[in-house]
Amino acid sequence: MKNVVISDFIALPTREIRSQWVLEQIYQKLSPTHCFIGKFVDDNTVKSSLHLKNGQVVNNISYPLEGTPCAEAKKISGVCCYPIDVQRCFPEDIDLNKLAIQGYMGIAIRSFNNEVVGLLVCLFDRELDESQLDKQWFTDVSYLLGVEISYELTSKHQSALISKLELGEELAKTCIIEWNTVTDDIIHSEQIYSVLGLTPHTLVTRKKLMSITPQRDHAYIENEINQVLVDGLSHFKFNIKVINGENGFKYVAILGRLGIDKITEAPILQMVLQDISEIYHINQALYLSNMMFEHTIEPVMITDKDNRIIQVNNAFVSCSGYSIDEVIGQYPSMLNSGEHGAEFFQDMWQVLHQEGCWHGEVYNKRKSGEIVPVAVSINEVKNESQEITNYIAVFKDISVWKETEKKLSFYANNEPITGLYNRRAFLQRLEQDSRERSLQPFTIAYIDIVRFKDLNDIYGQDICDQLLEFVGQSIKSIIEGSDLACRYGGDEFVVKLTNLNINQSEKIVRKLLDICDKPITINHLLIDIHICVGLAHYPESAKKIPDLMRAAHHAMHSVKYEELSSIGVYDAQLHQDLLRDLALREKLKLAIKQQELTVYYQPIINVRENKIEKFEALVRWQDEDYGFISPDEFIAIAEKSNLIIPLGQFVLEQSCESLAKIHSLGYGDISIAINRSINEFRYDNNQVEAISTAAAKHGLSHQHIIIEVTESVAMSSNLHAKNVLNELRAHHFKVSLDDFCTGYSSLSNLMDYSADILKIDRTFIRKLLTEDKNQILTNTLIELAHKLGMSVVAEGVEEQEQLDLLRKLNCDYIQGYFYSPAIPIEQCLDLLSYFDKNTRQQLTV
Ligand code: C2E
Ligand code: CA
Ligand code: CA
Repeated sequence: MKNVVISDFIALPTREIRSQWVLEQIYQKLSPTHCFIGKFVDDNTVKSSLHLKNGQVVNNISYPLEGTPCAEAKKISGVCCYPIDVQRCFPEDIDLNKLAIQGYMGIAIRSFNNEVVGLLVCLFDRELDESQLDKQWFTDVSYLLGVEISYELTSKHQSALISKLELGEELAKTCIIEWNTVTDDIIHSEQIYSVLGLTPHTLVTRKKLMSITPQRDHAYIENEINQVLVDGLSHFKFNIKVINGENGFKYVAILGRLGIDKITEAPILQMVLQDISEIYHINQALYLSNMMFEHTIEPVMITDKDNRIIQVNNAFVSCSGYSIDEVIGQYPSMLNSGEHGAEFFQDMWQVLHQEGCWHGEVYNKRKSGEIVPVAVSINEVKNESQEITNYIAVFKDISVWKETEKKLSFYANNEPITGLYNRRAFLQRLEQDSRERSLQPFTIAYIDIVRFKDLNDIYGQDICDQLLEFVGQSIKSIIEGSDLACRYGGDEFVVKLTNLNINQSEKIVRKLLDICDKPITINHLLIDIHICVGLAHYPESAKKIPDLMRAAHHAMHSVKYEELSSIGVYDAQLHQDLLRDLALREKLKLAIKQQELTVYYQPIINVRENKIEKFEALVRWQDEDYGFISPDEFIAIAEKSNLIIPLGQFVLEQSCESLAKIHSLGYGDISIAINRSINEFRYDNNQVEAISTAAAKHGLSHQHIIIEVTESVAMSSNLHAKNVLNELRAHHFKVSLDDFCTGYSSLSNLMDYSADILKIDRTFIRKLLTEDKNQILTNTLIELAHKLGMSVVAEGVEEQEQLDLLRKLNCDYIQGYFYSPAIPIEQCLDLLSYFDKNTRQQLTV
């Protein structure tokens, strides 16, 4: 190229300057009016990228290619030249006309691969002498521009590629590294700083890279790399940990291969590094939750949106007995025990859908068929669109709880000795049953062990517990199905017999009597017991449970004192009795309040001296409607209703007042015996204080006051009463043991009683003349009592023969109709003076 010095061209610093330099060279040589480099905007549009007019840079132009000489120039391989009349040749080219162009010379600028990348155009406002044009030079110049434009395009293309690559790297959090293992040179993409958490523009060296990994990982990294370099593995893949900040780490995956440097032929490691911290953390969390899922001791079941099982854990497998394969794809209903109805599950789903979760207790069936109670919580899992994707159910085996609960409820509802219901639970069940099955008839049997207290005193608690157990077992043996039985109180049992009339019920109860009437062997002892039973029938006897219980109790009471085991049926007569009982209670309350009771006194005569020494105070009640009511009847009512306390206090007052009167009339050695029943020995009813106060009030010395109690009150097992009696004796009051020889009186226990006087019961005295053994026993009893320092009173003596015999047996005192019944105080005074006279007469005779 003659006139264009390539070295000058190359020496120019930028592409723009180089292009302008070329156009200026053209101007100097050819003096075109317009000279420009055209580039293709699209297939039919050309835009000048540098434009000289008369040698000066002017604004660029753009024009459509079609119908212009440029279209020709683009097509042909050499210079396209129209020395004259170019406007005529291209009439559609209005620009030629506008610019008043005469001659045209243009050439396609081609890239290395001969592709047209632009146009070099000269327009002349004059005609050209073609022979004068150095076309070769023009062609050469276009080559130079071709090179320039090719470079421009290539570099544009490359930088577009690189930025795409960079974008890819950024999005994928990856970078590329090439490490020449011989020179240790490292080439990398820009993204490396972000992937490895390095400060931008840091020089990346092998040392630098090792310094950002933990020391203890170095051996592992070396080993991974050596597998490629030494062992000849062509590809490798491993993860490393990169120190990131104070305590953090980044997790980076390295994927690479072994390559050869084309120039130095040194082995190079070409690697892609990817920041996988996020995935690592997700994986870690997933790993942990999977560990939790697998190792949690609670069985867990996951179902899909259609409630098919998709996953269960080990605990589920061991608890249900099913293998994973057996449950996947199944419905949870495979665990259904049949214990819950459809309604239960309907409710469960409703709550689950409303609240997103459900908690409750369910009976599940294991593969083995065993039914286990479990606590379940089910949770819905929803996606971002709030659609249900899964259900997660966590179970908890609560069979141990349930068992404990059962035991606790057993202890709460059952009585430990017999295992029968306790009173509270029984009444509750009874109420519940009568609410649910109000129309079915049933019988209440009220069962009592006769004189159980005495048995307790004689045999002790252990044996009596076994007796109770025996009766409990016997009751269990006669009941069935829907019958209910309970230990109602100490020695009382109540049974509900369902669907039987009264006669059928009596037959069933008779079986119980037959069992219990045979002597029972406990600890090698043969024990005789009697039981009495009261029957009341629903609905005839009463309609309400409390009334029915009272009726049965009343029926039991009506036979309680019979000699053999017997059954009392609540009938019209008993009903009348019960009504009388209830009415009397109300009347008694009033009578006590209005002081309508009186006290009569029955003399107790010293047999040897034939002299009245004591009186027994016996309460009397004359009601205007019911007439005379026996204390046997109303004392029992008073004892049951707590009226015994004011009644006892009244008798105490009256007796002390009367005794004071007797003393004041010159009978100063007379004593008074006052009856106290067991219910008066209560902690809140201080007898010692009450009696001392009454005695003091009437100026009586304690030795003239005798407190009469029955045997059971004085027993050592009744600790409080026994203490009170001892205390009374310590205060010099006398204590008398009433009704001895009734029930299970025991001579051996006699030593244990803290009493001064023994009263032999009148039922015993009645048989004194007819039964030999009674005589022998009376004899022994009197002797024993004397040896123990007690004096003996015989009650209920009505005949001379009885008196004579008792005198012979060395009895100390006699009480009975033979001398006098209980009489008002005025008559007592007459009697005293009568006895006084007669005794004196006797003495003087
Ligand atoms: P008790 O303490 O055994 O009283 C003796 C009972 O035998 C009295 O009956 C008396 O009238 C009766 N009796 C006396 N001699 C004869 C006789 O020769 N033949 C017959 N058949 N009976 C005779 P009463 O007065 O009806 O009293 C019955 C029971 O009522 C008493 O039996 C006693 O347990 C109780 N009682 C009476 N008054 C009181 C009282 O003020 N307080 C308490 N807690 N109980 C009382
Ligand atoms: Ca008495
Ligand atoms: Ca008595």
